[in-house]
Amino acid sequence: MPPFDALVAANRAYVASGAHRDLPVRPVRNLAVVTCMDSRIAAFPTLGLELGDAHVIRVAGARVTDDVRRSLALSTHLLGTRYVAVVGHTDCGLADPTGDLPERLAEVMGHPAEPRDWHSFTDVAEAVRGDCEDLLGWPDRPEGFEVGGYVLNVRTGELDEVAPPRPAPPVA
Ligand SMILES: [Zn+2]
Repeated sequence: MPPFDALVAANRAYVASGAHRDLPVRPVRNLAVVTCMDSRIAAFPTLGLELGDAHVIRVAGARVTDDVRRSLALSTHLLGTRYVAVVGHTDCGLADPTGDLPERLAEVMGHPAEPRDWHSFTDVAEAVRGDCEDLLGWPDRPEGFEVGGYVLNVRTGELDEVAPPRPAPPVA
C-alpha cells in the first residue's frame, strides 16, 4: 500500500503531540553530519542529537560528493557549522568490492545505467578516511574547520571512530 496517507496522518498526530518546536535555523552544536540514506540509521538518537542541533546530510554511501560540498558550503558559511562528522556504515549498498554495481543496476533496470561515478567503495573505513582527508583540504572550508570520521554498525548501533577528529590547516 502506498505510504503517503499514512505520512500525513502521522504528521497530524506528531503536531498534536506537541513534540515539534520552533527553533533557530543555525544548528546549536555547529555540527554537520554526513551519513548514508540507509533506512537503518536513526541519525539523531544514535548520535545523541536533538532537533536543532545539527545539519544531517544524507546521501547514498555517505560519500562527500559535489552536492554534499554544496550543502556544506551553505552549512558552514551561512549557518555557522564548523565541525563535520562523516558517518559511513557497515553493510552499505555502496560497498562494491567486485566493482560490478553498474552491471547489477543495469540488470535490474533492463538497460544500461547512466554512466556516472556511483562513489562505491571496497572498504567503508577507508572510504570515510579518504573523504575526511579530502574535506580537510577542501578549498572552500571555513576557518576553524574540524573533521572526524566514523563507521556505524547497523546491526548493533555502535559507532567506531576511524578518522580521529582533526582541525583543517588554516585557509590560505
Ligand atoms: Zn549505505
